[in-house]
Amino acid sequence: AVELCQVDKYFGQHHVIRQVEFSVAKGEVVAICGPSGSGKSTLIRLINQLETLSSGEIFIEGQPTSGLKGKALRKLRTRIGFVFQQFNLYAHLTALQNVSLALVHVLQMPTDKARIKAENLLARVGLADKAGHFPSQLSGGQQQRVAIARALVTDPAIILFDEPTSALDPEMIGEVLLVMQELAQSGITMIVVTHEMSFAREIADRVVFMDGGVILEQADPKTFFSAPAHPRAQRFLQKVL
Ligand code: ATP
Ligand code: MG
Repeated sequence: AVELCQVDKYFGQHHVIRQVEFSVAKGEVVAICGPSGSGKSTLIRLINQLETLSSGEIFIEGQPTSGLKGKALRKLRTRIGFVFQQFNLYAHLTALQNVSLALVHVLQMPTDKARIKAENLLARVGLADKAGHFPSQLSGGQQQRVAIARALVTDPAIILFDEPTSALDPEMIGEVLLVMQELAQSGITMIVVTHEMSFAREIADRVVFMDGGVILEQADPKTFFSAPAHPRAQRFLQKVL
């Protein structure tokens, strides 16, 4: 579903992603971990075309993505959902409007149909009764579940998460992880940057460890957590576990 070929990213002189080769199969759930500044966010922002790569190519569902503009870029973005650490909901829109926005404005779906679809998605994340609430009237965990519903609204093939639970109070992490777990079982392709080692261990099919803009190790969770091969991965795990 996603394939990165020799991808480099520079910010000025700063070489942030270094010759990364990485692919994710359809339906696979991949957890990306690594120290702060290792390039995790940049990597998934490249996949979502929020950053442009310096060299290499990224294929989404077999299609090369570099140089896409305008309508083609908007269409690609509807194939990829993105959930941020800070929710990024529109404060002046209700939960329902936040979810239905892309349907009406990008996919030109009639308002009634969009509303029904958004209501169904809010129900799926356990928020059927909060459709009319504004973000300020929702807890952090509820806001993040609205953001997940919003990311799903265009029926994306792939959903990317960048530390979706890092901004949450501890008591709200579980409800968001539960929604993510259900999503993982639904067969959607998921790439999740996370410090939540329980997610990586119990839900991911594969764990990717990055440091210094390089993927240093990829393994199934059982192997990664019991016997990480790379010394830097060993040190990282000693700190976080
Ligand atoms: P964290 O765990 O703290 O979120 P990360 O692994 O997500 O870290 P990135 O945000 O991808 O790391 O950053 C990788 C490197 O790229 C860092 O050195 C960062 O300072 C740099 N960087 C990221 N975005 C930009 C930018 N827009 N301009 C310049 N440098 C950037
Ligand atoms: Mg980051």
